[in-house]
Amino acid sequence: MTSPAPSTMPSFEQLGLPDSLLSMLSEVGYEIPSPIQAACIPYLLAGRDLLGEAQTGTGKTAAFALPTLAKLDLSNMRPQVLVLTPTRELALQVSEAFTKYAHHLQNFHVLPIYGGQSMVVQLRQLSRGAQVIVGTPGRIMDHLERKSLKLDALTMLVLDEADEMLRMGFIDDVEWILEHTPSTRQTALFSATMPATIREVARRHLREPEEVRIRTATSTVEKIRQRYWLVRGVDKLDALTRILDAEEKLDAALVFVRTKIGTEELADKLAARGYAAAALNGDMTQSLRERVIEQLKNGSLDIVIATDVAARGIDVPRISHVINYDIPYDTEAYVHRIGRTGRAGREGVAILFVAPRERRMLKSIEHATRQQIEPIALPSREDVSSLRVSQFKQKVLDTLADPDMELGFFMSVVEELVEENDLSSRELAAALAYLVQAGRPLQIEEEGRGWDQATALHTQGKPLREDIFTTGAPRSRTGRRDANAIPAKVFDNGKVQRYWIAVGRDHGVMPKDIVGAIINESGIEGRSIGQIDLFDDFSTVELPAQLPDDLLNVLRGVVVRSQRLNIRPVRDDENLPVRRPQNRDDPRRDKKPSKPWEKKSGEKRFARSGDFRPPRRDDARQSERRSFADKGKVSGWKKRRGHE
Ligand code: AMP
Repeated sequence: MTSPAPSTMPSFEQLGLPDSLLSMLSEVGYEIPSPIQAACIPYLLAGRDLLGEAQTGTGKTAAFALPTLAKLDLSNMRPQVLVLTPTRELALQVSEAFTKYAHHLQNFHVLPIYGGQSMVVQLRQLSRGAQVIVGTPGRIMDHLERKSLKLDALTMLVLDEADEMLRMGFIDDVEWILEHTPSTRQTALFSATMPATIREVARRHLREPEEVRIRTATSTVEKIRQRYWLVRGVDKLDALTRILDAEEKLDAALVFVRTKIGTEELADKLAARGYAAAALNGDMTQSLRERVIEQLKNGSLDIVIATDVAARGIDVPRISHVINYDIPYDTEAYVHRIGRTGRAGREGVAILFVAPRERRMLKSIEHATRQQIEPIALPSREDVSSLRVSQFKQKVLDTLADPDMELGFFMSVVEELVEENDLSSRELAAALAYLVQAGRPLQIEEEGRGWDQATALHTQGKPLREDIFTTGAPRSRTGRRDANAIPAKVFDNGKVQRYWIAVGRDHGVMPKDIVGAIINESGIEGRSIGQIDLFDDFSTVELPAQLPDDLLNVLRGVVVRSQRLNIRPVRDDENLPVRRPQNRDDPRRDKKPSKPWEKKSGEKRFARSGDFRPPRRDDARQSERRSFADKGKVSGWKKRRGHE
């Protein structure tokens, strides 16, 4: 069968998932199941085998992870579920997804197992036990042969990206593994394409499988000009604002994201940058939603950030642009989204953000809409700044030329100001222009500082964290001893710990962004930040061990490349590999894993192990100053506080 149409999509409750998973889903902001989830979850819960044709981005991981979690026996530590993936990146991603979805499940353990990882560590982890194993075929075979992995309690086997496993030459290993698992198991096979070999594997190893396919009905979208931007280098929020600024004939824009939380976060960030933007999602009351749509119609809002569900049926002729900030789950959702523009005989523009991993969905969309989608280059910051300047000049000239604008009264106020304060009219005009544009600067931040203004929201009004780095009793910003601040001894043990953060290569992050955000938001100085390893959608960073909870809370909320860091210590059983940055310019590239207490040339400090002293307050100040100076320009944060 194919997936259900969005209009008939059931809720997660209707799919029969248990309460523990439903509450987690609402916390992570998933509004409704994606088509592949709606189609697969009931079959998997019912114990049926499944053949799913679905690619990355369709939500297939949750499609098998949620029913799998619903059926686990958490009191049993033997492997009950095995997921085979072609690459270790995917193994890590799938493990991460399981950990996220199992948030409310006590005693849940998932273990990623892949080649290149230390055998000794893996053997130790396997001996401790885990209900879910996610691994690459070669290494799983090794463990089965050594008998360090026993699958006699296995109830479920998932083959993820089976066509990739075929392409990479793993299909024989996969079959070998299938033959060494209990024949009573349930099996789900997911593949973006269904070549004959995969069908043959399914025929041999799946029992009367249900077939699920994401529909790719072709549709005509003639009045809509479709374009895409390949997400790279610049963060998505930065790219979005440049597009909003530079697009010609942009009247109103509907921006699509995947989660309810995503709508609010993005609307807040755009509003903080001076755009008339609001969220539209299923958590809002009907009357609130109607108000947002009314405001979009009458022009008091220009940008609405919506989920697919909330935007259903919107008919606002002034929507000139639909921006797919998060890629849709399938082509049908895409066609539905972009149909919100090009209404009432007008021309519409659709822009799609595509991460490198999501290119296949781009191809499917081109196929479904029978149109080639053109790539766009982002306008540079200079282009956007000069555009803003010329728009500003034009606004001033229009005001002067408009006979309806009664400027007489203001003329006299201006003359008074000039005379009373001995000002030049240039100075006065510049001050007024500044006031007018304060919420939306004409000059925008330089590269790599996309997080800057967003994170400023977190720091406004709060003291910087430098006071916790003093030796002895902590001081407040005024220099007084502050009994409430956290004593510095928490850093005295000199130990380093690896922390997980929710921003990775796919978000376009560079190590310098992470370092900059940590320094500026927490006051931790640069030298206390150790190795950074970048993965696709997360990274790890070494920091002093046992960071105090309130500092972690601050860091958790820090936004880098539009992602909240959600920092947490890496658990021992995660066994994440080390991944050096490839960027030649990165100062950490050739550095050994940094230990703050190790002596560096020209430095007297941290001479030997155990000599790690907490950075001093002055150090934090210095590094803060340095980091601003390094950028050659003060940040939006500073600008707003001090108008420097
Ligand atoms: P996948 O295709 O499994 O790689 O999932 C793609 C992305 O969609 C991931 O970032 C998921 O967190 C997200 N996602 C999966 N299901 C849903 C849903 N029902 N609602 C919102 N986001 C989802």
